[in-house]
Amino acid sequence: MKRIQTGALILAVCLLLSACGVLQENASVSDTAFLLDTTVTITIYGTRSTDLLDACFDEIQRLENLLSAAVEGSDIHRINDAAGGAFVTVSSETLHVLKRAQEISALTGGAFDITVGPLVNLWNIRGGTGTVPDQAQISAAQSLVGYENLEISGNSVRLARAGMCIDLGAIAKGYIGQQIRELLLREGAEHALIDLGGNILAVGGHTDGSPFRIGIQDPFRPTGTACAAVSAADTCVVTAGDYERYFESGGVRYHHILDPETGAPARSGLSGVTIVASDCELADALSTTVFILGAEDGLPLIESLEGIECVLIADDGTVTVSSGLEDCFELLS
Ligand code: ADP
Ligand code: MG
Repeated sequence: MKRIQTGALILAVCLLLSACGVLQENASVSDTAFLLDTTVTITIYGTRSTDLLDACFDEIQRLENLLSAAVEGSDIHRINDAAGGAFVTVSSETLHVLKRAQEISALTGGAFDITVGPLVNLWNIRGGTGTVPDQAQISAAQSLVGYENLEISGNSVRLARAGMCIDLGAIAKGYIGQQIRELLLREGAEHALIDLGGNILAVGGHTDGSPFRIGIQDPFRPTGTACAAVSAADTCVVTAGDYERYFESGGVRYHHILDPETGAPARSGLSGVTIVASDCELADALSTTVFILGAEDGLPLIESLEGIECVLIADDGTVTVSSGLEDCFELLS
């Protein structure tokens, strides 16, 4: 008798839960934290449980502790510390990002180069303040940049010359976003938005099957003002621009995307570059790279790559969209 009662109770709970399941179509949970030197927001649709959100933030923190040059004891910090000396053993996650970065450097003729660290440190562009270094300082830092001097052997890594320095600022968020997307999917969350400060990953679309609509920041208007939007499901929308981290001196804007060829902030005629691709790591790296290359060299590169699209916003406000994006792109007034 008792067993039948228990069975009935379980059945009732199951019915209640499935009723909640229907209700949860419109439910969502969201949380924001300051991580990766930016504002990170994760929203999971179709659920009211925050357990998975917490796991996502824990994983971001764990990966930041491996990949950030600024975190003492991180893999990158240890490699930089040992530059010019011994090989350093690193985690499989770090190894993956370093190898991917090497491939992207080769693909982009060195415009993308994670050994740009000495220049990043010299310019020290954190936003707001800064001073323009002199040419001798720029040349000295520039001479230490070169991805071919990053040596990888098994799971050990070495920077060949003292003073060299890795900075994963243009690829780490892409990689970490990708890892969080995999974590969500593994745990059964099929509808989510991951926003890592301008790196947006759409996991699936809305619970009703429609795509997410992702705004593209207007480079010439206050943060949060979109000048265009793209429809996105199962893809990433990653933006790099000269309008968030910069200082001004003598009427010139010095921003944080550095051209290894000049040793200075890139001047390519672009103010904003958005890449749309399912490979978020590549999208992150290419947003920075195309910003450096400019429309003339950047657009042909994007058109040559399968499944990668872009929106380029020039200094004069001209908007150019790659050929595969036209159907899901909308210009806002
Ligand atoms: P954000 O950090 O705002 O998302 P980006 O994705 O464009 O911006 O990355 C810019 C960061 O990448 C810089 O702050 C610096 O750490 C690093 N970086 C700058 N120039 C290069 C370059 N030529 N190659 C690789 N990384 C770069
Ligand atoms: Mg980037």
